[in-house]
Amino acid sequence: MGLAEITARVSAAEAAAGRAPGSVALIAVSKVQPPERVVAVLEAGQRLFGENYVQETAGKWPDWRAEYPGARVHMIGPLQTNKARQAVELFDAIHTLDRPSLATKLANLAQMRGASPELFVQVNTGAEPQKAGLLPAAVDRFIAEVRAMDLPLRGLMCIPPEAEDPAPHFAALADMAARNGLSGLSMGMSSDFEAAIAAGATHVRVGSAIFGAREYNAQG
Ligand SMILES: *Cc1c(COP(=O)(O)O)cnc(C)c1O
Repeated sequence: MGLAEITARVSAAEAAAGRAPGSVALIAVSKVQPPERVVAVLEAGQRLFGENYVQETAGKWPDWRAEYPGARVHMIGPLQTNKARQAVELFDAIHTLDRPSLATKLANLAQMRGASPELFVQVNTGAEPQKAGLLPAAVDRFIAEVRAMDLPLRGLMCIPPEAEDPAPHFAALADMAARNGLSGLSMGMSSDFEAAIAAGATHVRVGSAIFGAREYNAQG
């Protein structure tokens, strides 16, 4: 289990970047992992997790939340509008707000419930056709729309193109956040979280480096 090593590397990257200790939240991405691996990480004291699928989260996290007080789960996968109602009950934050129809739905749910998960707007910094997220040119306007709906907008999120140096994408996301007065930056995964921390990440999403490789076939 790689939790201790990754926690140490997050701390070292904070220090190297001159950032305050504890200023970066480590999200342990537990999607598709066997339950015993997730329980081991919970037992080791980790309390912040990331999941990609509403159904999978509904199946496993209500029990773990009851068993491990303080456990929090962030949605980091694409969210269908027709699953938003379930998602706001299951998640403490949603990192993948990427379109007006979803914002409207979340705003309606927030009004009804008197509460909303914290939100990150996903930005497609590489303008990849197959990838979710707002194009960079559309971000400022969308942020203004989300703010006008009185939603708790925390920051921006990106997944840089796999074949590219992620650093310019992290820097671009940090610029967009700064010019919009947003403090949250969800960026960095197993292979590049240290570069993300150097660029100002407040939330890194690390899966396989903590839990080991995901075995999609083994999922029941
Ligand atoms: C799966 C996933 C991660 C974790 O990826 P690893 O490479 O296993 O660290 C991070 N962010 C998002 C959006 C993901 O879907």
